[in-house]
Amino acid sequence: MICSKCGEEHPLEEMELTFRRPDDVAKLSAEERARLVQENNDLCVIDGMRFFIRALLPLPVESRDIPYCIGLWVEVTQATFARVYDLWDSDEQVLQKPFAAQIANEIPTADGSLGLRAEMRLTGPTTRPDVILQPSQHQLYVEQANGIDEHRAAEFSALFA
Ligand SMILES: [Zn+2]
Repeated sequence: MICSKCGEEHPLEEMELTFRRPDDVAKLSAEERARLVQENNDLCVIDGMRFFIRALLPLPVESRDIPYCIGLWVEVTQATFARVYDLWDSDEQVLQKPFAAQIANEIPTADGSLGLRAEMRLTGPTTRPDVILQPSQHQLYVEQANGIDEHRAAEFSALFA
């Protein structure tokens, strides 16, 4: 299907925008990172003080059954981190109430995504948590609440490179 905004095609299988690490980890030197950071592809701790979890920010897309998901990191409290760690392999995740979290990546086209307040919801032992932004005037909140079009999804994917 040809996009009415730009005249291009936006293939569904295009890679979704993904951040490999929280911004505050990515900007450390290799030496600092080796000394201070405990990390894997799902969890990350800086100096035993700051706690991060990898999650998905779903954006509904008109004309699609499944949302466009930005892969990003959220910062949580130590207590939340410990609770999520305890529930990591548990089916009881679905019973857990959402946790308060803050966006830990700056999405280049969405003005000031770093630090946005959100809820993180566990979705099951084999899937990443979902992030739902707290209501605000922010562009990204409006896009999550109202949905985006294929063209906007392609703009996010283009940030990947
Ligand atoms: Zn387009």
